[in-house]
Amino acid sequence: MSLSLPTQLFVDGKYCDSASGKRTPLVNPATEEVFVEVAAAEVVDVERAIDSAQAAWEGGWRDLAPGKRTEILFRVARVLRENLEAIAQMERLHIGKPIADARDEAGLGARVFEYYAGAVGRVCGETIPVARGGFDFTLRQSMGVVAAIVPWNFPFPIACWKAAPALAAGNCVILKPASLSPLTALKLGELAHQAGLPPGVLQILPGSGAKIGDALVAHPLIRKVSFTGSTEIGRRIMEMSSRDLKRVSLELGGKSPNIVFADADWQRAAESSPMSVFANTGQDCCARSRVFVERSVFEPFVEKFVAATEKLVVGDPAKEETQLGPMVSAAQRDVVEGFLADARGRGSRFGTGGGRPLSRGYYLSPTVLLNVGIGDRCWKEEIFGPVVAITAFDDEAAMIREVNASPYGLSGSLWTNDLSRALRVARAVQSGVLSVNSHSSVHVEAPFGGFKQSGLGRDLGMAAMEGYTELKNVYVAA
Ligand code: NAD
Ligand code: MN
Repeated sequence: MSLSLPTQLFVDGKYCDSASGKRTPLVNPATEEVFVEVAAAEVVDVERAIDSAQAAWEGGWRDLAPGKRTEILFRVARVLRENLEAIAQMERLHIGKPIADARDEAGLGARVFEYYAGAVGRVCGETIPVARGGFDFTLRQSMGVVAAIVPWNFPFPIACWKAAPALAAGNCVILKPASLSPLTALKLGELAHQAGLPPGVLQILPGSGAKIGDALVAHPLIRKVSFTGSTEIGRRIMEMSSRDLKRVSLELGGKSPNIVFADADWQRAAESSPMSVFANTGQDCCARSRVFVERSVFEPFVEKFVAATEKLVVGDPAKEETQLGPMVSAAQRDVVEGFLADARGRGSRFGTGGGRPLSRGYYLSPTVLLNVGIGDRCWKEEIFGPVVAITAFDDEAAMIREVNASPYGLSGSLWTNDLSRALRVARAVQSGVLSVNSHSSVHVEAPFGGFKQSGLGRDLGMAAMEGYTELKNVYVAA
C-alpha cells in the first residue's frame, strides 16, 4: 500500500504549516534514517488553536443534541476502522512498534470511540431531596477546551482514550502528541473531521513539550489538562495548573510488581511474564518490572522465565512475527544502558540479555537481572526499557511492604490459586490496577490510573468521562 504521511499541524479543520515554518525530522528507530519532516507548532499556533476551539465549543458543540454527538462519534469510529492499516503502519514507522501490536492498538483506538459514542447521555445528574417543598438537581456540564498531552509509547490509543471521552462529554480538545510520534495523532484529527466532526472541535498540535507545553498549560481558556507521561513533567503541569486551579488528570510512571505464589500455576506465570515487561520493548508504564517469586519455586521459575525470554522474536517491526522492535530513540536506549551499567557495577547477575542484538536500529536485548539490591536504581526507579529484576520472597506481609514501599502504584499482577490470598493481597497492594492470574491492565470499560506518584484521576470507563465534566447543583424553590 502507498502511505501518505501527514506533515502539517491540524488546526480549525484543516492541515496548515506552523507560523514559523519550523519542522521536526522524524527518525525511523529501526533503520536510524530520517523519513519525513513534520511541522512543529509554536506559541502563536497554540493561541490560534485555542481561540478556534473555544469558538467551536460556544458555537454549538457544547449544545449539540446527545443523539447527534453519538452519531458523529460512531462515524469517527467507522472511518478509523476503514483506516486501521494506515494508522498501524504510521505507528510502526515513527516509534518502531511491531506491526501486529500496532494493528491491535489501532483497533483499540476505534473501539474507544465506539464505547464513548454509546456513552453520550449516560453521564447524568441526580435529583436530591433537600429542603421541604423545593426541588434540587445536579447537572454534569462540559468544561470548555481541554488540552490532552500524550507520550510516544502508545501514541494512538492514548490519544483516542483522552479525546473520545472529552468530546463525548461536550468539550473541544487540543491534542499535543509527543514530538517523536505525531503521525497517528494527526491522522486521527484528519479522519475525525472527514467523519463529520466540526472544525475546531479536535485539533492536533505536534511540537516540543518544552517549547509549547507551558503556553498550552498556562492558557486561561484551557479548563483541564489531561496528561500521560513522566512523573517529572506531570508534577510540573500540576504546579502550573495550580495558578488558576485548572483541573488535571495525570497518568504517570510506574514500577509495577508481578507477584507469584508457589501455589499458583507458576509455569504458566513464568511463560507469560516476559511479555508483561518486555512488550513494547519495555516502554510501558504498566511494565511488570519487579517480579516477586515465592522462594520454593524461585529457581525453576527463573529458569522458565529466562528460556521464554530467549525465545522472544526481536527484529524488524514490519514483520508480522516480530514481538520486540527497537527502542524509540538512541537517547532512550542510552538511558536504559545507564541502568544496566549501574546493575553491573553493583554485581547484579544477568540471567540473559544486557547487549545490543542488532547493529542497525536502536535495539536492546530483553534483559533479566537477578540479585538486584533493594537500594539499587534498577530496583527502585522506572527504567522504561526491556529490563526486569526478579527476586525471591519468604513472607507475604514483608513482600507486600516492599511492594508498597515504591512511590509508584500503577499496575500489577498476582498469581495464586488460593482465593482468600488473592483477595487479601489484591486489597493490600497500593495500585490503581491489579490483575489476578493474568497480566491485563487496560480494559476500555474499566477505570485506568494510578495511586500515589503514578497519577491522579482516571482514563477509560465512565470515570474518565465524568472527569471531563463539572458538577453543578441547582435548587428550585417551590
Ligand atoms: P514526557 O513526560 O517526557 O512527555 C510526555 C508528553 O509531555 C510529550 O507530549 C511531551 O512533549 C510533553 N511535554 C514535555 N515537556 C512538557 C512541558 N514542560 N509541558 C507540557 N508538556 C510537556 O514522557 P515520555 O518520555 O514521552 O514518556 C515516558 C513516560 O510516560 C514514562 O515515565 C511512563 O511511565 C509515562 N507513561 C505513563 C502512562 C500511564 O498511563 N500512566 C502511559 C504511558 C507513559
Ligand atoms: Mn521524555
